[in-house]
Amino acid sequence: MNEINCRLVENPVLIVTGGGRGIGASVCRMAIARGYTVVFSYLHNKEAASELEQVLQAEGGECLAIRSDVAVEKDVVNLFEIAESTFGPVRALVNNAGVLETQMPLVEMTAERIDRVIATNVRGSLLCAREAVRRMAVSRGGSGGSIVNLSSRAAVLGAANEYIDYAVSKGAIDTLTIGLSREVGSEGIRVNAVRPGLIDTDIHTSGGEPGRVARLCASVPMGRGGSAEEVAETIMWLLSEQSSYCNGALLDVSGGR
Ligand code: NAP
Repeated sequence: MNEINCRLVENPVLIVTGGGRGIGASVCRMAIARGYTVVFSYLHNKEAASELEQVLQAEGGECLAIRSDVAVEKDVVNLFEIAESTFGPVRALVNNAGVLETQMPLVEMTAERIDRVIATNVRGSLLCAREAVRRMAVSRGGSGGSIVNLSSRAAVLGAANEYIDYAVSKGAIDTLTIGLSREVGSEGIRVNAVRPGLIDTDIHTSGGEPGRVARLCASVPMGRGGSAEEVAETIMWLLSEQSSYCNGALLDVSGGR
């Protein structure tokens, strides 16, 4: 029997970054329903985070929302320390927090904007993955675990005239997934990524085009955008032992686009 198995652990502790809204919130809901203990972070939207925390706790779930900026090292360390001291060893991480900014060609982008996108999407994911590995690695006294990173089909398509900076950051997430899966595969830790396509969340409003999914859905072979729940289902599968031989996978959840 494989000792490094989330199913063998009662209520494995899962950290979801950016779990108050969108895809992260769907992951939190599904994870609670499937017996995980969930600690999720948020940055600005305390109202959404508190509401989700209350709903999940009222349903009997073990759940905690913590304000923690993934781009700030001490916030990330704090997030993991609180999760561990409250609920015990962390067994799973969904590196979900991510941002994009207003659509524009590269020639118009400021260095400050590029830094903001890279800080959250790349630095944040690296820091959270580091803290997870420090706790999960068998050679460090951990019991293994599973990490799922949120990449994007933008890593492949490039997001020309919209947000190349964001696409670049997601290319880095693919590289992080490949590199770290090889680095910690022998430590009982699996590292995989999902690459969502056009998913109906607030992120498109952040880019200045709330109707982006409707505008582009004809370019999806399946003819529609996807839901946060459809992405969350794939993430839950990658977290679970059902995907026990998946490591370093970049799984497109994009309707074929
Ligand atoms: P969303 O609805 O805009 O939600 C983003 C979440 O990230 C929010 O909960 C936000 O917190 C949190 N966040 C942002 N910056 C943060 C920071 N520095 N520290 C901690 N949390 C932070 O986005 P989404 O569509 O669900 O996207 C989730 C992930 O999927 C992102 O990595 C995104 O790039 C990726 N993705 C999305 C799509 C899509 O079409 N939706 C496609 C491909 C990939 P607050 O609530 O506090 O603001």
